[in-house]
Amino acid sequence: MNRLLTIILSAVMAVAAYAAGRSVDDIPNVHVADRTRYVSNPDGVLSDATVARLDTMLARVWASSSAEVVVVAVADIDRPDDIDGFATDLFEKWGIGKSDRDNGVLILMARDSRKAVIRTGRGIEGPLPDIVAGRILRNDMFPRFREGDYDGGITAATERVARIATDPRYAEEIKSAIANDAGAQRGGEAFNGDEFFSWFLRMAIFVGIAAFIVVAAMVIANRRKEPQQAWRTLNDVKAPLLFCTFLFMGIPLAAYLLLVWQMHRIRTRKRLCPNCNSRMKRLNEESDNAYLTPAQDAEERLNSIDYDVWLCPTCGETDIIPFVNKKSSYTVCENCGARLATLTANRTLIKPTTARAGQGVRTYTCMSCRHTKDVVYQIPKLVTPPVVIVPGGGRGFGGGGGFSGGSFGGGSTMGGGASGGW
Ligand SMILES: [Zn+2]
Ligand SMILES: [Zn+2]
Repeated sequence: MNRLLTIILSAVMAVAAYAAGRSVDDIPNVHVADRTRYVSNPDGVLSDATVARLDTMLARVWASSSAEVVVVAVADIDRPDDIDGFATDLFEKWGIGKSDRDNGVLILMARDSRKAVIRTGRGIEGPLPDIVAGRILRNDMFPRFREGDYDGGITAATERVARIATDPRYAEEIKSAIANDAGAQRGGEAFNGDEFFSWFLRMAIFVGIAAFIVVAAMVIANRRKEPQQAWRTLNDVKAPLLFCTFLFMGIPLAAYLLLVWQMHRIRTRKRLCPNCNSRMKRLNEESDNAYLTPAQDAEERLNSIDYDVWLCPTCGETDIIPFVNKKSSYTVCENCGARLATLTANRTLIKPTTARAGQGVRTYTCMSCRHTKDVVYQIPKLVTPPVVIVPGGGRGFGGGGGFSGGSFGGGSTMGGGASGGW
Protein backbone atom coordinates (compact mmCIF):
# COMPACT_ATOMS: atom_id res chain seq x y z
CA MET A 1 0.00 0.00 0.00
CA ASN A 2 2.80 2.35 0.99
CA ARG A 3 4.59 1.43 -2.20
CA LEU A 4 1.59 2.24 -4.34
CA LEU A 5 1.22 5.62 -2.65
CA THR A 6 4.88 6.41 -3.31
CA ILE A 7 4.47 5.52 -6.98
CA ILE A 8 1.34 7.66 -7.36
CA LEU A 9 2.93 10.54 -5.47
CA SER A 10 6.11 10.51 -7.52
CA ALA A 11 4.09 10.28 -10.74
CA VAL A 12 2.05 13.31 -9.69
CA MET A 13 5.23 15.17 -8.77
CA ALA A 14 6.82 14.30 -12.11
CA VAL A 15 3.80 15.60 -14.02
CA ALA A 16 3.72 18.74 -11.87
CA ALA A 17 7.45 19.27 -12.40
CA TYR A 18 7.02 18.87 -16.12
CA ALA A 19 4.21 21.38 -16.24
CA ALA A 20 6.06 23.87 -14.04
CA GLY A 21 9.55 23.35 -15.48
CA ARG A 22 12.50 21.77 -13.78
CA SER A 23 13.81 22.82 -10.40
CA VAL A 24 17.53 22.84 -9.62
CA ASP A 25 17.11 19.41 -8.02
CA ASP A 26 15.37 18.00 -11.10
CA ILE A 27 18.35 18.50 -13.38
CA PRO A 28 20.35 15.30 -13.72
CA ASN A 29 24.04 15.70 -12.95
CA VAL A 30 25.25 13.55 -15.84
CA HIS A 31 28.94 14.09 -15.18
CA VAL A 32 28.75 12.57 -11.74
CA ALA A 33 27.09 9.49 -13.23
CA ASP A 34 29.54 9.26 -16.13
CA ARG A 35 32.76 11.26 -16.17
CA THR A 36 32.84 11.44 -19.97
CA ARG A 37 29.64 13.50 -20.08
CA TYR A 38 29.34 17.27 -19.62
CA VAL A 39 25.97 18.04 -21.22
CA SER A 40 22.72 17.59 -19.30
CA ASN A 41 19.92 17.34 -21.84
CA PRO A 42 17.09 15.64 -19.94
CA ASP A 43 14.26 16.90 -22.17
CA GLY A 44 15.96 16.17 -25.47
CA VAL A 45 16.17 19.84 -26.43
CA LEU A 46 19.48 19.09 -28.15
CA SER A 47 20.03 16.28 -30.63
CA ASP A 48 22.09 13.25 -29.62
CA ALA A 49 24.70 14.15 -32.22
CA THR A 50 25.13 17.63 -30.73
CA VAL A 51 25.39 16.23 -27.20
CA ALA A 52 28.06 13.77 -28.36
CA ARG A 53 29.97 16.54 -30.17
CA LEU A 54 29.84 18.85 -27.15
CA ASP A 55 30.90 16.06 -24.81
CA THR A 56 33.99 15.47 -26.96
CA MET A 57 34.73 19.18 -27.15
CA LEU A 58 34.32 19.73 -23.40
CA ALA A 59 36.36 16.65 -22.50
CA ARG A 60 39.26 18.32 -24.36
CA VAL A 61 38.67 21.60 -22.50
CA TRP A 62 38.68 19.83 -19.14
CA ALA A 63 41.77 17.81 -20.00
CA SER A 64 43.87 20.67 -21.38
CA SER A 65 42.85 23.63 -19.22
CA SER A 66 41.24 21.99 -16.14
CA ALA A 67 38.40 24.52 -16.61
CA GLU A 68 35.05 22.88 -15.94
CA VAL A 69 32.69 23.96 -18.73
CA VAL A 70 29.22 22.41 -18.45
CA VAL A 71 26.11 22.70 -20.64
CA VAL A 72 22.51 22.32 -19.45
CA ALA A 73 19.60 22.47 -21.90
CA VAL A 74 16.06 21.99 -20.60
CA ALA A 75 12.51 22.54 -21.88
CA ASP A 76 11.92 24.93 -19.01
CA ILE A 77 12.90 25.82 -15.46
CA ASP A 78 10.56 26.32 -12.52
CA ARG A 79 11.44 30.01 -12.07
CA PRO A 80 11.96 31.45 -15.56
CA ASP A 81 11.85 35.03 -14.23
CA ASP A 82 14.96 34.33 -12.17
CA ILE A 83 17.19 32.36 -14.53
CA ASP A 84 20.23 34.17 -13.03
CA GLY A 85 19.41 32.97 -9.52
CA PHE A 86 18.58 29.54 -10.89
CA ALA A 87 21.95 29.26 -12.67
CA THR A 88 23.84 30.42 -9.58
CA ASP A 89 22.02 27.88 -7.40
CA LEU A 90 22.74 25.07 -9.84
CA PHE A 91 26.37 26.18 -10.16
CA GLU A 92 26.81 26.15 -6.39
CA LYS A 93 24.93 22.89 -5.90
CA TRP A 94 27.11 21.05 -8.37
CA GLY A 95 30.27 22.94 -7.39
CA ILE A 96 31.33 23.57 -10.95
CA GLY A 97 35.02 24.49 -11.32
CA LYS A 98 38.09 23.60 -9.28
CA SER A 99 37.91 25.07 -5.78
CA ASP A 100 41.42 26.63 -5.95
CA ARG A 101 40.72 28.53 -9.18
CA ASP A 102 36.94 28.73 -9.46
CA ASN A 103 37.35 28.03 -13.16
CA GLY A 104 33.83 26.74 -13.86
CA VAL A 105 31.45 27.86 -16.59
CA LEU A 106 27.79 26.89 -16.79
CA ILE A 107 25.93 27.43 -20.06
CA LEU A 108 22.22 27.03 -19.35
CA MET A 109 19.22 27.47 -21.64
CA ALA A 110 15.47 27.14 -20.98
CA ARG A 111 13.80 26.64 -24.36
CA ASP A 112 10.14 27.40 -23.61
CA SER A 113 10.85 30.56 -21.59
CA ARG A 114 13.34 31.56 -24.32
CA LYS A 115 16.05 32.39 -21.79
CA ALA A 116 19.70 31.52 -21.47
CA VAL A 117 22.62 32.30 -19.19
CA ILE A 118 26.39 31.89 -19.10
CA ARG A 119 27.48 31.68 -15.45
CA THR A 120 31.19 31.99 -14.69
CA GLY A 121 33.33 31.20 -11.69
CA ARG A 122 35.44 34.05 -10.31
CA GLY A 123 38.70 32.60 -11.62
CA ILE A 124 37.54 32.70 -15.22
CA GLU A 125 36.05 36.19 -15.11
CA GLY A 126 39.35 37.61 -16.40
CA PRO A 127 39.49 35.67 -19.65
CA LEU A 128 35.71 35.57 -19.95
CA PRO A 129 34.32 38.85 -18.56
CA ASP A 130 30.59 39.55 -18.36
CA ILE A 131 30.71 41.74 -21.44
CA VAL A 132 32.16 38.89 -23.53
CA ALA A 133 29.62 36.45 -22.10
CA GLY A 134 26.82 38.83 -23.07
CA ARG A 135 28.25 39.13 -26.59
CA ILE A 136 28.37 35.34 -26.97
CA LEU A 137 24.68 35.16 -26.04
CA ARG A 138 23.63 37.95 -28.36
CA ASN A 139 25.87 37.20 -31.34
CA ASP A 140 26.39 33.44 -31.34
CA MET A 141 23.47 31.94 -29.48
CA PHE A 142 20.28 33.98 -29.79
CA PRO A 143 20.23 34.54 -33.59
CA ARG A 144 20.28 30.74 -34.09
CA PHE A 145 17.78 30.15 -31.26
CA ARG A 146 15.36 32.57 -32.91
CA GLU A 147 15.36 30.28 -35.93
CA GLY A 148 14.74 27.28 -33.71
CA ASP A 149 18.32 26.04 -34.19
CA TYR A 150 19.08 25.12 -30.58
CA ASP A 151 21.84 22.71 -31.59
CA GLY A 152 23.58 25.39 -33.62
CA GLY A 153 23.19 28.12 -30.98
CA ILE A 154 24.48 26.03 -28.09
CA THR A 155 27.33 24.65 -30.20
CA ALA A 156 28.45 28.11 -31.37
CA ALA A 157 28.36 29.52 -27.82
CA THR A 158 30.14 26.51 -26.33
CA GLU A 159 32.83 26.70 -29.03
CA ARG A 160 33.48 30.35 -28.09
CA VAL A 161 33.74 29.54 -24.39
CA ALA A 162 35.95 26.52 -25.13
CA ARG A 163 38.30 28.61 -27.25
CA ILE A 164 38.70 31.16 -24.45
CA ALA A 165 39.18 28.52 -21.76
CA THR A 166 41.91 26.79 -23.78
CA ASP A 167 43.63 29.99 -24.95
CA PRO A 168 47.32 29.57 -24.04
CA ARG A 169 47.41 33.20 -22.86
CA TYR A 170 45.10 32.35 -19.97
CA ALA A 171 46.44 28.87 -19.26
CA GLU A 172 48.38 29.90 -16.17
CA GLU A 173 45.49 31.93 -14.80
CA ILE A 174 42.96 29.14 -15.26
CA LYS A 175 45.02 26.02 -14.62
CA SER A 176 44.20 24.32 -11.35
CA ALA A 177 46.51 22.16 -9.24
CA ILE A 178 43.62 19.79 -8.61
CA ALA A 179 43.19 16.84 -10.94
CA ASN A 180 39.98 16.41 -12.89
CA ASP A 181 37.37 14.32 -11.09
CA ALA A 182 39.54 14.21 -7.98
CA GLY A 183 36.42 14.16 -5.84
CA ALA A 184 34.94 11.16 -7.60
CA GLN A 185 33.91 8.40 -5.25
CA ARG A 186 36.00 5.33 -5.96
CA GLY A 187 33.29 3.03 -4.64
CA GLY A 188 30.65 4.75 -6.67
CA GLU A 189 31.86 3.35 -9.95
CA ALA A 190 28.86 2.31 -11.94
CA PHE A 191 28.32 -1.34 -12.64
CA ASN A 192 28.90 -1.92 -16.32
CA GLY A 193 26.19 -4.19 -17.70
CA ASP A 194 27.56 -4.51 -21.24
CA GLU A 195 31.05 -5.33 -20.07
CA PHE A 196 29.72 -7.92 -17.65
CA PHE A 197 27.63 -9.55 -20.35
CA SER A 198 30.50 -9.84 -22.81
CA TRP A 199 32.69 -11.23 -20.05
CA PHE A 200 29.96 -13.73 -19.15
CA LEU A 201 29.51 -14.72 -22.80
CA ARG A 202 33.24 -15.37 -23.23
CA MET A 203 33.17 -17.35 -19.99
CA ALA A 204 30.18 -19.39 -21.22
CA ILE A 205 31.88 -20.19 -24.54
CA PHE A 206 35.02 -21.19 -22.68
CA VAL A 207 33.03 -23.46 -20.34
CA GLY A 208 31.15 -24.93 -23.33
CA ILE A 209 34.35 -25.81 -25.17
CA ALA A 210 36.10 -27.09 -22.04
CA ALA A 211 33.08 -29.27 -21.14
CA PHE A 212 33.00 -30.74 -24.63
CA ILE A 213 36.71 -31.60 -24.48
CA VAL A 214 36.31 -33.19 -21.03
CA VAL A 215 33.30 -35.27 -22.13
CA ALA A 216 35.05 -36.34 -25.33
CA ALA A 217 38.11 -37.39 -23.30
CA MET A 218 35.87 -39.34 -20.92
CA VAL A 219 34.16 -41.08 -23.84
CA ILE A 220 37.51 -42.16 -25.26
CA ALA A 221 38.89 -43.23 -21.86
CA ASN A 222 35.81 -45.34 -21.08
CA ARG A 223 35.49 -46.94 -24.49
CA ARG A 224 37.07 -50.25 -23.52
CA LYS A 225 35.71 -50.39 -19.97
CA GLU A 226 32.88 -52.51 -18.63
CA PRO A 227 29.55 -50.91 -19.63
CA GLN A 228 28.40 -50.64 -15.99
CA GLN A 229 31.53 -48.87 -14.86
CA ALA A 230 31.71 -46.62 -17.92
CA TRP A 231 28.06 -45.68 -17.57
CA ARG A 232 28.48 -44.90 -13.86
CA THR A 233 31.47 -42.62 -14.54
CA LEU A 234 29.55 -40.68 -17.17
CA ASN A 235 26.40 -40.57 -15.02
CA ASP A 236 28.40 -38.82 -12.30
CA VAL A 237 28.93 -35.74 -14.46
CA LYS A 238 25.46 -35.72 -16.02
CA ALA A 239 23.70 -33.61 -13.36
CA PRO A 240 26.53 -31.06 -12.91
CA LEU A 241 26.81 -30.71 -16.68
CA LEU A 242 23.06 -30.15 -17.05
CA PHE A 243 23.29 -27.46 -14.38
CA CYS A 244 26.19 -25.85 -16.26
CA THR A 245 24.17 -25.91 -19.46
CA PHE A 246 21.38 -23.91 -17.82
CA LEU A 247 23.79 -21.56 -16.06
CA PHE A 248 25.74 -20.72 -19.22
CA MET A 249 22.81 -19.98 -21.51
CA GLY A 250 22.72 -23.44 -23.08
CA ILE A 251 26.20 -23.13 -24.58
CA PRO A 252 27.53 -26.38 -23.00
CA LEU A 253 24.56 -28.23 -24.55
CA ALA A 254 26.81 -29.91 -27.16
CA ALA A 255 28.87 -31.50 -24.38
CA TYR A 256 25.70 -32.59 -22.58
CA LEU A 257 24.21 -34.17 -25.70
CA LEU A 258 27.47 -36.01 -26.39
CA LEU A 259 27.38 -37.36 -22.84
CA VAL A 260 23.75 -38.51 -23.03
CA TRP A 261 24.29 -40.04 -26.45
CA GLN A 262 27.37 -41.95 -25.23
CA MET A 263 25.49 -43.17 -22.12
CA HIS A 264 22.76 -44.49 -24.39
CA ARG A 265 25.32 -46.15 -26.66
CA ILE A 266 26.95 -47.93 -23.73
CA ARG A 267 23.61 -49.38 -22.70
CA THR A 268 22.66 -50.52 -26.19
CA ARG A 269 26.09 -51.69 -27.33
CA LYS A 270 26.06 -55.01 -29.22
CA ARG A 271 26.10 -57.96 -26.79
CA LEU A 272 26.93 -61.56 -27.61
CA CYS A 273 25.52 -64.54 -25.74
CA PRO A 274 28.16 -66.12 -23.43
CA ASN A 275 26.71 -69.60 -24.25
CA CYS A 276 26.10 -69.69 -27.99
CA ASN A 277 27.79 -66.48 -29.15
CA SER A 278 24.71 -65.27 -31.01
CA ARG A 279 23.56 -61.70 -30.78
CA MET A 280 21.39 -60.90 -27.73
CA LYS A 281 18.35 -58.67 -27.64
CA ARG A 282 17.81 -55.87 -25.08
CA LEU A 283 14.31 -55.79 -23.60
CA ASN A 284 12.53 -52.48 -23.12
CA GLU A 285 11.65 -51.14 -19.64
CA GLU A 286 8.13 -52.63 -19.60
CA SER A 287 8.93 -56.14 -20.79
CA ASP A 288 12.04 -56.52 -18.64
CA ASN A 289 9.96 -56.38 -15.43
CA ALA A 290 8.94 -59.99 -15.96
CA TYR A 291 12.55 -61.03 -15.40
CA LEU A 292 13.18 -58.90 -12.29
CA THR A 293 12.57 -59.82 -8.64
CA PRO A 294 10.13 -57.59 -6.69
CA ALA A 295 13.15 -56.01 -4.94
CA GLN A 296 14.87 -55.27 -8.26
CA ASP A 297 11.62 -53.87 -9.58
CA ALA A 298 11.40 -51.59 -6.52
CA GLU A 299 15.00 -50.49 -7.03
CA GLU A 300 14.12 -49.50 -10.59
CA ARG A 301 10.98 -47.65 -9.55
CA LEU A 302 12.86 -45.70 -6.86
CA ASN A 303 15.68 -44.91 -9.30
CA SER A 304 18.26 -46.58 -7.09
CA ILE A 305 19.39 -49.15 -9.68
CA ASP A 306 18.32 -49.43 -13.31
CA TYR A 307 18.41 -52.94 -14.75
CA ASP A 308 18.94 -53.88 -18.37
CA VAL A 309 17.68 -57.34 -19.33
CA TRP A 310 19.26 -59.02 -22.35
CA LEU A 311 17.73 -62.11 -23.89
CA CYS A 312 19.36 -64.65 -26.21
CA PRO A 313 16.84 -65.63 -28.90
CA THR A 314 18.76 -68.81 -29.68
CA CYS A 315 19.36 -70.48 -26.30
CA GLY A 316 17.15 -68.41 -23.96
CA GLU A 317 20.03 -67.11 -21.80
CA THR A 318 19.08 -63.96 -19.81
CA ASP A 319 21.63 -61.45 -18.58
CA ILE A 320 20.54 -58.86 -16.02
CA ILE A 321 22.92 -55.93 -15.85
CA PRO A 322 22.54 -53.42 -12.98
CA PHE A 323 23.36 -49.75 -13.48
CA VAL A 324 23.73 -48.18 -10.06
CA ASN A 325 22.63 -44.58 -9.72
CA LYS A 326 25.17 -43.23 -7.27
CA LYS A 327 23.25 -39.97 -7.10
CA SER A 328 20.33 -41.71 -5.41
CA SER A 329 20.12 -41.52 -1.63
CA TYR A 330 19.55 -45.29 -1.21
CA THR A 331 22.14 -47.55 0.34
CA VAL A 332 22.39 -51.34 0.32
CA CYS A 333 20.21 -53.12 2.90
CA GLU A 334 22.33 -55.40 5.13
CA ASN A 335 19.39 -57.81 5.47
CA CYS A 336 18.18 -58.45 1.89
CA GLY A 337 20.92 -56.87 -0.22
CA ALA A 338 18.57 -54.59 -2.14
CA ARG A 339 19.86 -51.07 -2.66
CA LEU A 340 16.76 -49.67 -1.01
CA ALA A 341 17.77 -48.61 2.50
CA THR A 342 16.96 -44.98 3.12
CA LEU A 343 17.18 -42.54 6.01
CA THR A 344 13.84 -42.47 7.80
CA ALA A 345 14.68 -40.91 11.18
CA ASN A 346 17.35 -38.78 12.74
CA ARG A 347 17.21 -38.22 16.49
CA THR A 348 19.49 -36.43 18.92
CA LEU A 349 20.36 -38.63 21.91
CA ILE A 350 22.69 -36.25 23.75
CA LYS A 351 22.60 -32.54 23.00
CA PRO A 352 26.03 -31.04 22.32
CA THR A 353 27.22 -28.15 24.49
CA THR A 354 30.21 -25.86 24.20
CA ALA A 355 31.93 -28.19 26.71
CA ARG A 356 31.30 -31.61 25.13
CA ALA A 357 30.19 -33.35 21.93
CA GLY A 358 26.72 -34.81 21.58
CA GLN A 359 25.33 -37.97 20.07
CA GLY A 360 22.66 -38.73 17.51
CA VAL A 361 21.15 -41.76 15.83
CA ARG A 362 20.11 -42.17 12.20
CA THR A 363 17.61 -44.88 11.31
CA TYR A 364 17.73 -46.47 7.86
CA THR A 365 14.74 -48.49 6.66
CA CYS A 366 14.77 -50.88 3.72
CA MET A 367 11.99 -50.15 1.29
CA SER A 368 11.95 -53.80 0.26
CA CYS A 369 12.05 -55.88 3.48
CA ARG A 370 11.33 -53.09 6.06
CA HIS A 371 14.51 -54.00 7.92
CA THR A 372 15.75 -51.09 10.02
CA LYS A 373 19.25 -50.23 11.08
CA ASP A 374 20.35 -47.60 13.59
CA VAL A 375 23.63 -45.81 13.12
CA VAL A 376 24.95 -43.77 16.05
CA TYR A 377 27.04 -40.73 15.22
CA GLN A 378 28.86 -37.93 17.02
CA ILE A 379 27.59 -34.36 17.03
CA PRO A 380 30.53 -31.92 17.31
CA LYS A 381 30.52 -29.69 20.37
CA LEU A 382 29.23 -26.17 19.92
CA VAL A 383 31.57 -23.33 19.15
CA THR A 384 30.84 -19.84 20.42
CA PRO A 385 29.63 -18.07 17.32
CA PRO A 386 32.02 -15.38 16.14
CA VAL A 387 30.65 -11.87 15.73
CA VAL A 388 29.90 -11.38 12.08
CA ILE A 389 29.91 -7.83 10.81
CA VAL A 390 27.74 -7.52 7.77
CA PRO A 391 29.04 -4.78 5.52
CA GLY A 392 26.25 -2.30 5.07
CA GLY A 393 25.09 -0.26 2.10
CA GLY A 394 25.03 -2.36 -1.02
CA ARG A 395 26.43 -0.76 -4.10
CA GLY A 396 23.60 -0.21 -6.49
CA PHE A 397 23.73 -1.36 -10.04
CA GLY A 398 24.19 1.69 -12.22
CA GLY A 399 23.13 -0.16 -15.32
CA GLY A 400 24.13 0.88 -18.80
CA GLY A 401 26.58 3.68 -18.35
CA GLY A 402 29.84 2.32 -19.53
CA PHE A 403 32.07 4.75 -17.71
CA SER A 404 32.69 5.48 -14.10
CA GLY A 405 31.38 8.59 -12.47
CA GLY A 406 33.22 11.85 -12.21
CA SER A 407 33.00 14.89 -10.01
CA PHE A 408 33.15 18.61 -10.17
CA GLY A 409 35.92 20.45 -8.41
CA GLY A 410 33.76 22.17 -5.79
CA GLY A 411 34.06 25.59 -7.39
CA SER A 412 31.71 28.49 -6.79
CA THR A 413 30.55 31.60 -8.59
CA MET A 414 30.23 35.25 -7.61
CA GLY A 415 27.42 35.50 -10.13
CA GLY A 416 29.66 36.43 -13.03
CA GLY A 417 28.55 36.06 -16.62
CA ALA A 418 25.52 37.25 -18.49
CA SER A 419 21.93 36.27 -19.21
CA GLY A 420 19.18 37.27 -21.54
CA GLY A 421 16.29 36.19 -23.71
CA TRP A 422 15.75 35.77 -27.41
ZN1 LIG B 1 22.60 -67.95 -26.41
ZN1 LIG C 1 16.08 -55.13 2.86
